[in-house]
Amino acid sequence: MLEGKLLIGGKWIPCKSKFESLNPATGEVFGRASLAGKKEVTQAVEAARLAFPEWKRTDISERAGIFIRIGEEILKRSQELKTLITLEMGRPLFESNIEVRKTSEIIKYFANEGKNYLEEEAIPINPHESSITRFEPVGVVGVIKPWNYPLLLPFWAIAPALLAGNTVVFKPSDLTPFAGMEIGKICQDAGIPDGVINVVTGDGSTGESLVSSDIDMVSFTGSSQTGKHIMKSSAEKLHRISLELGGSDAFIVFRDADIEEAINGAVWGRFMNCGQACVSPKRIFVEDDIADSFIEGFVKRTRNLVIGNGLDPGTDIGPMVSLEQREKLKLQVEDAVRLGAVIECGGKKPAALQDGFYYEPTVLTGVTPEMKVMNEEVFGPVAVISVFDNMDEALALANGTVYGLGASVWTKDMDIAMRMSSQLECGMVWINEICTLHPQCPWVGIKHSGMGKDLSRYGVREFVSVKHVNVNFGGGKTRGWWFPYGK
Ligand code: NAD
Repeated sequence: MLEGKLLIGGKWIPCKSKFESLNPATGEVFGRASLAGKKEVTQAVEAARLAFPEWKRTDISERAGIFIRIGEEILKRSQELKTLITLEMGRPLFESNIEVRKTSEIIKYFANEGKNYLEEEAIPINPHESSITRFEPVGVVGVIKPWNYPLLLPFWAIAPALLAGNTVVFKPSDLTPFAGMEIGKICQDAGIPDGVINVVTGDGSTGESLVSSDIDMVSFTGSSQTGKHIMKSSAEKLHRISLELGGSDAFIVFRDADIEEAINGAVWGRFMNCGQACVSPKRIFVEDDIADSFIEGFVKRTRNLVIGNGLDPGTDIGPMVSLEQREKLKLQVEDAVRLGAVIECGGKKPAALQDGFYYEPTVLTGVTPEMKVMNEEVFGPVAVISVFDNMDEALALANGTVYGLGASVWTKDMDIAMRMSSQLECGMVWINEICTLHPQCPWVGIKHSGMGKDLSRYGVREFVSVKHVNVNFGGGKTRGWWFPYGK
């Protein structure tokens, strides 16, 4: 049984309050994590505040060097990290392994390239006067992250925040506290000084305490509902906020697309991570004359997916992360069926896997805009397919949601592809591709999907304040706009 502690000021501290961590594949308790209250959160923020001046003064090359070591350390520990991720949140080891490797790659990207985005910039004005723009750390950053990529997403914030000279108090999801603790241990082992990163495990109440504490910024990834709540609480203290929230991405297939490729992409995109990814084809729209063959191929491939414990090497889809998430998904499917949707396959717990939080990969057709599956984020293994008959209708359907995270368009006609990409209301568009992730490309959402920027130069600058310094070198002493106005 794993026992959780809090990392505060470089020390691992036990906490009286605890909560249980369950293995979603079996429903069994495998750890007891610490539940940080207001007192512990305040201590962590004080430790981060104390460490800030010294860390800010550290040369950026030294900070970057530590992150190169963190990237390497993650690869060295890949076996234990991928197993822990699978145990805590259920996904197949194959996918956990990709997360571990991608995390290392992204950290090394920040370590190697981040410095270039933090260098001051000169702004020439005239022969006597010049300006520079400096990028300075914000201070103490509260990093609050979800469970669905428990190693990758925290480091999207922790790496650029620390590289820019901030210090961090990190609150992992209550569903993945032990992966969160590993992040603290890896940073310590790679040489991050005491207090520069602090880890407070806990639930929403721990997050609330962090948001209302004496921090300078909140970097949040999670549901739109919690994001709105955090925005309200942060307004009181005028904390800087970065919000990466939920999504309901459209996947649009035109008649001239490579249908086989589109089906394979849609099935993988929708069911990887058991359908629990922010960017995923949550609403699939297919042009009418290819709809029947697309649906037939999609259902056939879905039926071939192997559902089981993520620790088994043959598994394609593991359990959902929790009973609560499965109940929410079940209600969304029931609502759709009540309003006329057809279940083409799945739609229930698998008969042979009653213990964990499993749900069969499910395909719904005959869906209509008033159904929950079209209006709410569907965060589980359910694909929702509907039909359109022209580009304007496809756009109206795709944009008919409060969310604006990603979209995927499948066509060989680059004119259609580019017109769609400019008119889709979202932060990321993939053409004949789905959910690729490159550290040098921005990861962004609009509308109810948030207002944060991750990865790329934008993800680094998210964690700095911009300072403008103007210098007059002594020439051009007469300023016609100074007093006295009368002469
Ligand atoms: P969630 O909003 O329930 O929780 C996210 C984090 O916030 C957790 O650490 C949680 O403990 C904490 N929290 C909960 N209530 C809080 C409160 N009142 N104050 C402060 N913190 C609080 O989300 P989740 O279920 O963990 O994650 C799934 C959601 O995250 C989905 O909506 C998904 O689309 C979204 N997500 C978005 C992105 C992106 O890049 N846009 C990436 C991954 C996940």
